[in-house]
Amino acid sequence: MKKRCIGWSNTCEKGYPILKPTILDFTQEELETLFPPRFRAKQIYNWIYQQHVDTFDAMENLPKSLRRELADRYTISPLQIVQKQESSDGSIKYLFRLEDGHTVESVLLKMKEAEYDEEGELLHHAKYTVCVSSQVGCKVGCAFCLTAKGGFIRNLSVGEIVGQVLEIKKDNAIASNRRVNIVYMGMGEPLDNLDNLAKAIRVFANENGLSISPKRQTVSTSGISSKIKKLGEMELGVQLAISLHAVDDALRERLIPMNRAYNIASIIDAVKSFPVNTRKRVMFEYLVIKNVNDDIESAKKLIRLLEGIKSKVNLIYFNPYPGTTFERPEPERMRAFQEYLLKRGVLCTIRESKGIDISAACGQLREQELTT
Ligand code: SAH
Ligand code: SF4
Repeated sequence: MKKRCIGWSNTCEKGYPILKPTILDFTQEELETLFPPRFRAKQIYNWIYQQHVDTFDAMENLPKSLRRELADRYTISPLQIVQKQESSDGSIKYLFRLEDGHTVESVLLKMKEAEYDEEGELLHHAKYTVCVSSQVGCKVGCAFCLTAKGGFIRNLSVGEIVGQVLEIKKDNAIASNRRVNIVYMGMGEPLDNLDNLAKAIRVFANENGLSISPKRQTVSTSGISSKIKKLGEMELGVQLAISLHAVDDALRERLIPMNRAYNIASIIDAVKSFPVNTRKRVMFEYLVIKNVNDDIESAKKLIRLLEGIKSKVNLIYFNPYPGTTFERPEPERMRAFQEYLLKRGVLCTIRESKGIDISAACGQLREQELTT
């Protein structure tokens, strides 16, 4: 069946896997229905997401019989850490094994160090963002993306999405009241898993849980226009990032074959109807590839495309991997591209190559695991 099934977290005495669902799949409302009276659900949420317990037995204010029933029916975490790589900038990349043996990656990005004044008083805490995966593999098949190479395997469940953030918070002893940001920029196309994504966004946002407001969650998509519209209609309040990468359809089709079905105009149209928080902007990610899309003519066209949209452009260095013919652009070309936009009033940042020394482009850790 799968390429590799490296051990199971639950096995019966004959060694066969017991695949129990995870309790992280449920919203608080669902737990209220499953395990009345209603206040139990809030207690369970508190134990899992705020006390960070690893067993149901540790949920001391629940009746013993309920703790036993929960343990019989569910696991808490559906994923285990199999590999961890720390980068010099403090980012940590995780490879998680799922219950069925497949693996996905997540990255903890340290956006800002904690700062102290001269007396050693804390001025502000470190700021973290977790980059989560939404699928094992991906259907979209972008020419530059390592995740695409292994094809699509399956969608992640709600609990598998939620569990990545929970495990990373636990592993780094990030206090439960320290809120992190979430970007759905790991493996997979989040809008191809829209139902689970929407539910995960709600579970994350629950104030008795991780309390990560949708404003602090950014969904990155390769541009499935119809689903951008759907996501907008759900009025979840999440931020949107579009992986644009090219400004004309011919090139974009080469990079992202799906552009044939959802061309640039349709994406811009969907973005224009997307409800954006008044203080926020839609982010346009532009993966810069040497001699492919790093020319000023493209920057010019990009400005025209974004007219009338409250946007911010994020330029990303292409991160090479063995076997690819694409190359990383020259820093001067990157800066020239950025300056061209900035001078004409378009907000534009260059994504710091967080974790570049740990091969941060998603899919690379998993690839190593599968090929060694
Ligand atoms: N499927 C979604 C989200 C996951 S991909 C999407 O495409 O938006 C997240 C980001 O990783 C995308 O912006 C993609 O362009 C970027 N990415 C993929 N391969 C990369 C590489 N080799 N180097 C740098 N960024 C890469
Ligand atoms: Fe899928 Fe995003 Fe990779 Fe494209 S860049 S193949 S959409 S994960």
